[in-house]
Amino acid sequence: MSATLIKGKPIAERIRAEVAEHVKEIGHIGLVTVLVGDDPASDVYIRLKHKAAVEAGIEATDLRLPAEISEAELLARVAELDADEQVDAILVQLPLPDHIDEARIIRALEPAKDVDGFHPFNAGQLYLGRRTLVPATPLGVMVMLREHKLELDGARAVVIGRSDIVGKPMAHLLMQANATVTIWHSHTKDLPRHTLDADVLVAAVGVPAMVSADMVKTGGVVIDVGINRTEAGLVGDVDPGAAEVAAYLSPVPGGVGPMTIACLLQNAVVCARYRRGELAYPA
Ligand code: NAP
Repeated sequence: MSATLIKGKPIAERIRAEVAEHVKEIGHIGLVTVLVGDDPASDVYIRLKHKAAVEAGIEATDLRLPAEISEAELLARVAELDADEQVDAILVQLPLPDHIDEARIIRALEPAKDVDGFHPFNAGQLYLGRRTLVPATPLGVMVMLREHKLELDGARAVVIGRSDIVGKPMAHLLMQANATVTIWHSHTKDLPRHTLDADVLVAAVGVPAMVSADMVKTGGVVIDVGINRTEAGLVGDVDPGAAEVAAYLSPVPGGVGPMTIACLLQNAVVCARYRRGELAYPA
């Protein structure tokens, strides 16, 4: 068996073209990204997001702040962006320097401008199964699964990883789609017992090829969120040999990565519609 590859790139291109249409219709969408310090990986992510935003016609501002900025100063900058009528969507690139309390900064964002969906209000809405801004990576995974018409209702799903930005929101979205979800993390014992049973397996761990082919259910669906830089280049959390066992597999690169950026832009459209009252933001 060789799995059908769930490629993110073509789906992402379509979403980005749709976003460009929305931008024309709305007239103006303002996105501000905030990068504190000069972490090289964050710099790459910010550049990719900007390129995509500009291509879609979004007015993107790349706010760079020095690593030494105090928490109080950063909070003041966030407050300015919250109040700025030209700004629909704000993204604070994580991680922030150690002397800044990340949770405090995210809490300071206006929830309706929280394009990443990380604010506790938006996370709470997701927890409650209500409409909200959802983190772009798990949102992208859901779009990929739907695109291939993969059955989630009643499916057994395993999510490996419980981070606030991928694992937890992923598990909630799968549960909302009526899958039965198991979350796996670094304390989980006897992993294959869970994974071999998984109709849908989502790996978001950050450990190269930790999911081997013999951990995958024959005919299952495997989504590889991992992006790991190794000497052999970019690799995922899933051994590519899983393609011989699974029915569907998302590749790395070219799988979830492009979807994250496309769904982030989609979220910027949602923020703009909230602010214009075209979508009701839950108060
Ligand atoms: P993270 O915050 O480091 O979380 C990793 C999770 O994996 C944690 O919940 C951790 O468990 C669990 N874990 C770590 N080692 C484990 C092990 N040996 N066995 C079982 N569980 C283990 O990472 P993240 O931000 O969620 O990202 C995960 C991966 O996705 C990374 O490779 C990242 O680069 C990638 N990523 C990709 C995209 C994309 O667009 N494709 C977007 C975001 C992230 P504990 O909670 O117990 O520590």
